[in-house]
Amino acid sequence: MKVLKFGGTSVGSPERMKKLLDIIDPSERQIVVLSAVSGTTNNLVEIGQAYLAGDKAKAAVLIKALKDKYEIFIKKLYAKSEYLEQGREVIDYHFGLLTNLSKDLFTNIEEKVVLAQGELISTTLYHVYLKEIGLPSVLLPALDFMKIDEDNEPIVDYITEHITPLLDAHPDINLFITQGYICRNSFGEIDNLRRGGSDYTASLIGAAIRSEEVQIWTDIDGMHNNDPRIVKGTTPIAQLSFDEAAELAYFGAKILHPQSVFPAQKYKIPVRLLNTMDPKAAGTLITNESEKDKIKSIAAKDGIIAIKVQSSRMLLAYGFLRRLFEVFERYKTSIDMITTSEVAVSLTIDDTTHLAEIEKELGAFGTVDIDRDLTIICVVGDFGAEKHGYAARVLDALKHIPIRMISYGGSENNLSVLINTSDKTEALRSLHNRLF
Ligand code: ADP
Ligand code: ASP
Ligand code: MG
Repeated sequence: MKVLKFGGTSVGSPERMKKLLDIIDPSERQIVVLSAVSGTTNNLVEIGQAYLAGDKAKAAVLIKALKDKYEIFIKKLYAKSEYLEQGREVIDYHFGLLTNLSKDLFTNIEEKVVLAQGELISTTLYHVYLKEIGLPSVLLPALDFMKIDEDNEPIVDYITEHITPLLDAHPDINLFITQGYICRNSFGEIDNLRRGGSDYTASLIGAAIRSEEVQIWTDIDGMHNNDPRIVKGTTPIAQLSFDEAAELAYFGAKILHPQSVFPAQKYKIPVRLLNTMDPKAAGTLITNESEKDKIKSIAAKDGIIAIKVQSSRMLLAYGFLRRLFEVFERYKTSIDMITTSEVAVSLTIDDTTHLAEIEKELGAFGTVDIDRDLTIICVVGDFGAEKHGYAARVLDALKHIPIRMISYGGSENNLSVLINTSDKTEALRSLHNRLF
């Protein structure tokens, strides 16, 4: 059974929603994961923020504006008044819920309820559309099987256990529709898999049902060899290994949610990145295989903070790094890059939630310096057994740009450099011209 995920632009208009059936083959049993209609989650973020700020009037204005968009959407989606009426009920229900949130205390828990409405609306509207055209399908409520634990980690066995009976209950149905992004947390509350999380949903379901393939349908023909939003002339990569794809996703290639590769990798499920606007394009296939000895792609991750701890006590001392890393562990803050010298260590984080506490605790080890507004540029590929020449080519392409840190050798397929965000565009372009 395949899992097909369609992103926000792929369901971004009634016309696009209808065209999904050019891609979905109703004669095959499959699970279709949908994102919210493009723009909706951003609007819901604004609504949540207005409520959190206590600005109910602003929330009401934003809710009305979004509802108006859906009024137009359903008029174009349905041909028959009976189904238009059903679509209207869907909208009335979800926007009624958003409006009613003004009546009670609004906390982060309610905010997540707000954020969940986009996928709930898109899947329900699509399900009604399939009914209108007479195509049998079942709407699987993601909130009944998608779950994260107290560390926000999804639980694949739980998903398997809870989705299997839902599928088995409908042996005659081929088409199952479900929501990307949304889940329940360890308290049973509505939660989500972070922005862009529908990719993660698809991969988790793929893992849970041991799917033959996960397809991520989006608005571009696969993973490109550089960020197409910044660099002209980027080209799609035919084949990537799970490790390469994971590095690119983690280090900023927006086409894939950072964690979405891992479940597929663990259960060896091929992932294809495909283009809804050009379904015949080959896209990118992600498996255990990869083209050897080749630089594949470049990605960039902004919002990076570098922390340098300088201490003469580090000289010849063992256990120093462990104690240093324990500080980050205590504050559940993950580290991306690390470089060390005999008297100093520099590392980067992107989550600043506990930066003040971390800085204070690190003060016990030595002098702490913090640099902000940095970007990690990550060059990904298979650097081969010999590993000669790659680092030189990358650094040569960046010789006119100040480099704060370099990380190489951590894995076979990643070379990262830390630069000022203001140099990012030039760095990406220069690397592109020199490496491809
Ligand atoms: P969806 O809504 O379908 O999930 P996203 O906007 O999340 O789509 O991801 C697709 C976008 O990712 C593309 O339109 C492209 O601008 C951006 N992107 C960034 N880096 C890359 C890359 N290396 N290859 C392909 N797309 C990329
Ligand atoms: N709708 C969610 C978002 O915009 C999830 C997704 O599109 O993958 O982040
Ligand atoms: Mg996305």
